[in-house]
Amino acid sequence: MAADDDSAPGLTPDAALGQGRWVKLICGASNQDLPAIADLSAVYAVAGVHCVDVAADPAVIRATRMGLDWAEGLVGRRPWLMVSLSDGADPHFRKAWFDPLHCPADCPRPCARVCPADAIPVGAGVDTQRCYGCGRCLPACPLGLISEHEHQLPIAAMAELLRAERPDAVEIHTSPGRSIEFAAAVEALAASALPLQRLAVSCGLEGHGLNPAGLAAELWSRYVLMRRHGFRPLWQLDGRPMRGDIGAGTSRAAVQLWRSLQAVAPPGPLQLAGGTNAATLGHLAPDEWPAGVAFGGMARRVLQPLLQEAQQRQTSLREWPEGWSEAVTIARDLVEPWSTRPTVGFSC
Ligand code: SF4
Ligand code: SF4
Repeated sequence: MAADDDSAPGLTPDAALGQGRWVKLICGASNQDLPAIADLSAVYAVAGVHCVDVAADPAVIRATRMGLDWAEGLVGRRPWLMVSLSDGADPHFRKAWFDPLHCPADCPRPCARVCPADAIPVGAGVDTQRCYGCGRCLPACPLGLISEHEHQLPIAAMAELLRAERPDAVEIHTSPGRSIEFAAAVEALAASALPLQRLAVSCGLEGHGLNPAGLAAELWSRYVLMRRHGFRPLWQLDGRPMRGDIGAGTSRAAVQLWRSLQAVAPPGPLQLAGGTNAATLGHLAPDEWPAGVAFGGMARRVLQPLLQEAQQRQTSLREWPEGWSEAVTIARDLVEPWSTRPTVGFSC
C-alpha cells in the first residue's frame, strides 16, 4: 500500500508508474506541427504529465525540448521525452495525401470538416506537418481522392537517430506476428547504447483477431527480448487507437483490455492508451490500478482552439499570458484526476 502524498503532481516518472498516477502526453507519432508541439509539451509539462511522447524527427524533438525547457523554468520539473518508433506498418505512422487540383471547385470539403488537426486548408491539400494520420478524411471524400502514405523511420536509421537525439525513453509500436521485426528494432536500440529509462511497447487487439491470451503471449516474447538487453519495459495497451477525441465511449476499450491482460501480461507497468479521455478514470473501480494513462487526441483537441488563436495572433501560448493560463487550467483538468488519484485501494 502506498502512502498518500500531497506532492503527487511532482512525482518522478518512475514513482508515478509505481503508484498508478503516471500520465503521458502523446503528441503523435506522425505529428510534425512544431509550434503546436512546443506549446503542448510546455502546457502539459506544467500541468503535471510525467512523459511527452513525440515523433522520431529531430525537428520535433527540438520543438519538444523547447517546450520542456520552458516548463522546467516555471515549475522546476521535467517529464521524460519519449520517441515513438514502429517495427512495421502502423496507422500511427502514416499521413494522408491528395492533389487539390483534382477537387471540384464546389466540393463542400467534408474531408476538412472531419479532420481533428485542422490539417486540410482550403485549396492546398493536406498540411503534412499537421497531419498525424488518424485516417478520418480518407472515407470522407466522396471521390476517393485521399490516400495514405507510410511515414516512419526505417529500423536501420533508429540507432543513429537515438545516438544523436538522446531521448529519455523510446516506444516501439508493434503488432502480433512481428516478433522478428521487433527483435531487429530492439537490436537497433541496443546498438545506440543509450541508457533508456524505459522501453515502452505499444500494442492492442484491434484488427488482429487475437484474444487477450494470444496478445499476452506476444508481449511475453517481446519481454524476453527486451530483458536480454537490459531494457525496462512499460506496456502501452492500445484500446482504440487514435479515437480519444471522438467521445466518452471510446475510453472503455482500453480499460477492458487492461482488465483482460493484467493477470497474464509480462512484468512491468501496464498503461492505458487508445481512446483514452476524461471519461477513462470513471470506468475504473476504486480498487483498479493500472500504472497510468496516455492522452493523445483528447489532449490535443481540448487545446486546439487556443493553439489556433495563438497562431492567428502570430504568437505562441507561451508568449500569450491569457491563453497560457487558460490552457494550463484545461490541461490540469485532464491530468490531475490521474496524477493526484487518492491511493486508497492501491495495492500493485
Ligand atoms: S483527418 Fe487525420 S489523416 Fe486526414 S489530414 Fe486530418 S489528421 Fe491527417
Ligand atoms: S472531400 Fe475530396 S474532393 Fe472534396 S475537397 Fe476533400 S479531397 Fe477534395
